[in-house]
Amino acid sequence: MPLFDYQCKECGEVFELMVRFSEANQAQICPKCESKNTQRQLSIVASFKVASSSSSNSSSCGTQGGYT
Ligand SMILES: [Zn+2]
Repeated sequence: MPLFDYQCKECGEVFELMVRFSEANQAQICPKCESKNTQRQLSIVASFKVASSSSSNSSSCGTQGGYT
């Protein structure tokens, strides 16, 4: 089961819970104050790192565009 972050609106507690995807959007009970006034935090999705580091030796022809 995936881990979700929740924040309690009552006491501000942030807690993680393992819940099913089908239950992820339901309000969970705050472990601190036992309030159900909680909201799921949008977990920061690991940003995709585009692997663009294909260092191809672009051999630029030397003398071009004579700025003199
Ligand atoms: Zn709470």
